[in-house]
Amino acid sequence: GRASPPLAALSQVLRLERSRRTAIVFPLQKLERYLAPGTDTAPFRLFQPGLAALQRAEALFRSDPGHSIDYVSSAVRMDHAPPPALPEVCFIGRSNVGKSSLIRALFSLAPEVEVRVSKTPGHTKKMNFFKVGKYFTLVDMPGYGYRAPQDFVEMVEAYLQERRNLKRTFLLVDGVVGLQKTDHIAVEMLEEFGIPYVMVLTKIDRASRGLLLKNVLEIQEFVKENTQGCFPQLFLVSSVEFSGVHLLRCFVAHVTGNLPTVEAS
Ligand code: GDP
Repeated sequence: GRASPPLAALSQVLRLERSRRTAIVFPLQKLERYLAPGTDTAPFRLFQPGLAALQRAEALFRSDPGHSIDYVSSAVRMDHAPPPALPEVCFIGRSNVGKSSLIRALFSLAPEVEVRVSKTPGHTKKMNFFKVGKYFTLVDMPGYGYRAPQDFVEMVEAYLQERRNLKRTFLLVDGVVGLQKTDHIAVEMLEEFGIPYVMVLTKIDRASRGLLLKNVLEIQEFVKENTQGCFPQLFLVSSVEFSGVHLLRCFVAHVTGNLPTVEAS
């Protein structure tokens, strides 16, 4: 198989010096010290697992002869979806938000897993199902464009409303440009359906610290004021530098019930 990229594994991250290590494992926490005094820091540290939990989560994302991670199937309609046998998470977001890159980063310790992209305009958009051993399934939903409401109707809406084993939806938002109109439409839909979701800010390596902090604070405020179903802590990721990827693996393991106790770091 192909070699996994540097920093894909925690063992590689642990060799870095402390400050760099924190930036990779806890990118949101890294921003905390630049906050104005008096800022509420609670949303920065709701989910803050220790090393042991991060390592147990990583084991789920690492394939070995007794634990296979496979692309199972794609579906264009709900009745083509695999049976809802395992706890499930799904990833949604605008086209180009970095969704395939992030899923590839999450699965980088299982290099045999192929994360397909179908970007050709007019090409049928599909939901892609990945099975992580006997533990959970992860669904890559089609990216939506400027036609967000129409794009949703056929399958994304049906999926989100009907999928009984769906434990959490990960809504990807571009960390450089922040919330866009189509992201607001996605939020409204998730709120209307009353399902639990979490926002993931992508491409953070491309945003300056100031811009990132501004986007984080704005989105946190938006989440606090306008949402019920959104987890108050944002997840920051870079699929290039692997920041936030280990923490996100841990959160996925946790919400799918595979890591019941997550002791604080
Ligand atoms: P998708 O349409 O949501 O699946 O987006 P892709 O994963 O294909 O990413 C869209 C573009 O953003 C590609 O050119 C990627 O190389 C780039 N990209 C994705 N993630 C990152 C990231 O974390 N950092 C940087 N710098 N670029 C990224």
